[in-house]
Amino acid sequence: MHCPACQTPTLVAIELDAGLGGLGCTHCNGVLLAVPAARQWAEAGGETAWAGHVEAVEISDSGAALTCPRCRHFMGKFRIDAGVDNRLDLCGHCGEFWLDAGEWNLLGALELRQHLPSIFSQMWQLGIRQREAAANREGRLRELLGDADHARVQDFARWLRGHAQAEAIRRYLGLH
Ligand SMILES: [Zn+2]
Ligand SMILES: [Zn+2]
Repeated sequence: MHCPACQTPTLVAIELDAGLGGLGCTHCNGVLLAVPAARQWAEAGGETAWAGHVEAVEISDSGAALTCPRCRHFMGKFRIDAGVDNRLDLCGHCGEFWLDAGEWNLLGALELRQHLPSIFSQMWQLGIRQREAAANREGRLRELLGDADHARVQDFARWLRGHAQAEAIRRYLGLH
């Protein structure tokens, strides 16, 4: 089987974690995994704790669309998290997915390894877009108001949300 990222002709069996095997490329250090295997591993508890650092391996990301090494269909790209540019490649046809070098560690550092199967869901992808849209709105407001006034507005919003008379205050301010 060819490596989908660097086209090295063979992938070798590797173990990413106890009970989670995949096929690794010894040239670019990418890994091919199967969704059911990742789900089974996550449901069995997966790893107990992440050591809390990203090992000194460069995180790469294949920008171009990859071809699934198992069935030759094009693989789709899936965001990992808001504010993270890396994308995982999934073959919707046979359920194999590809992690570029360093992406397994990146998932560990983000504490997202357990969520590997859900990352490919519509809900997860939508959640990322919603969080980014909220962050963009926040950024625009901060730009408009400056840091000090933006902090005041945030404080006020927090205070209002937790207030027993929030409705009365909102009415008084004409916030309806
Ligand atoms: Zn490779
Ligand atoms: Zn495939």
